[in-house]
Amino acid sequence: MPRKPDESDLTGTTPRRRPKPDVLAIGNRRLKPSTLMMGHGFDPALSEGSLKPPIFLTSTFVFESAAAGKRHFEGVTGKRPGGAEGLVYSRFNGPNQEIAEDRLGVWEDAEDALLFSSGMSAIATVLLTFVQPGDVIVHSAPLYAATETLIGRILGKFGVTWLDFPAGATEAEIAAVVEQARAQGRVAMIYLESPANPTNVLVDVQAVARVRDALLGEEKPPIVIDNTFLGPLWHHPLGHGADIVVYSLTKYAGGHSDLVAGGALGSLAHMNQVRMMRNTIGTILDPNSAWMLLRSLETLELRMSRAGENAERICTWLRDQPKVEKVVYLGFPETERQADIYRRHCTGAGSTFSLYLKGGEAEAFRFLDALKIAKLAVSLGGTETLASHPAAMTHLSVPDERKRALGIGDNMVRISIGVEDADDLIADFDQALAAI
Ligand SMILES: *Cc1c(COP(=O)(O)O)cnc(C)c1O
Repeated sequence: MPRKPDESDLTGTTPRRRPKPDVLAIGNRRLKPSTLMMGHGFDPALSEGSLKPPIFLTSTFVFESAAAGKRHFEGVTGKRPGGAEGLVYSRFNGPNQEIAEDRLGVWEDAEDALLFSSGMSAIATVLLTFVQPGDVIVHSAPLYAATETLIGRILGKFGVTWLDFPAGATEAEIAAVVEQARAQGRVAMIYLESPANPTNVLVDVQAVARVRDALLGEEKPPIVIDNTFLGPLWHHPLGHGADIVVYSLTKYAGGHSDLVAGGALGSLAHMNQVRMMRNTIGTILDPNSAWMLLRSLETLELRMSRAGENAERICTWLRDQPKVEKVVYLGFPETERQADIYRRHCTGAGSTFSLYLKGGEAEAFRFLDALKIAKLAVSLGGTETLASHPAAMTHLSVPDERKRALGIGDNMVRISIGVEDADDLIADFDQALAAI
């Protein structure tokens, strides 16, 4: 995608034209995302034949002519929709980011995708794009802690309020909360996170979309969903009525626990608005991390499939162990309603789950300290298996009453399974259980 502006760039008729067309299909066969990850959006001929895209370390890009520069700025400043037709300045975009954006969008069949310096900067940029003082945000609960802080405490300073419904709410319960929010102010956004962390409860995105269309059909506030835990392989919310998907790409998409990045995907109309905000506040990802993300996307399906298969085997083994109270894993839905949402929305159960041991903090800590393969760290979705203790770590500051309501007990261990050998991991969990 490093492209030389040609006549078409100046007329603006084919803003995304590339010197060599991408092969997206062979005959009637539409190529799968795992195939497109190796070449989509990059023409080696534009980079000295380099098989892999070089890392473009530059802060600015040279215009072909003054007129081309003018047109680019018309795009950047929003005088003309669609963003810049070429590369202008590295706070707006760069070749590595554009290639990675094109490839990320393929997984969700999204019209457009944008990269950010972190999951939180993606979420913050999307919120700032659509929310004004006096607005109400309706959201599912619980949310990632920093997202709750951002909505409640930071946007709260600017006169934005919020109302929430539990992640597992029924359509009627969601409608009741939206009604109440409508009475409070303009509903600017419905913000979801599914599955919720660490409860692993799924949100019925289709029900949320029906409620939005029935009660807020005129304003149509965007439905935004954090798809970090199951995307982009096992859950495609844009197909269920969500308008914008946001990501911490730090997790499964990056997948090697060696980068921090975020993403937002959706229709061109929504992304054009978000792009304007990103251009202004400069929350774009850097070229090095974008290049690493390209490397990661090539193995995304392999990594996630293996981690998902491992998790299924390990959870099935764990739930039969005498020292285990229960395993909260999407593959073992606890209610018929959750099972129904799972069947309609998900194509896999992921590899992150909650393990409840018999006992309390002492037993959980003994288990964690005894692990030999699994590493004791927060985060998830990497090649390596990680284990942590939410009550004492990620959710330490959550009030006790809320912790109880969310089922965050002292005996709960959070585990993200990696791509190691499943039997080796079972051997590790077996000896750690014996150490309790
Ligand atoms: C990690 C995470 C985030 C924040 O992402 P960063 O890349 O750390 O900024 C947001 N949402 C969910 C669900 C996460 O797991």
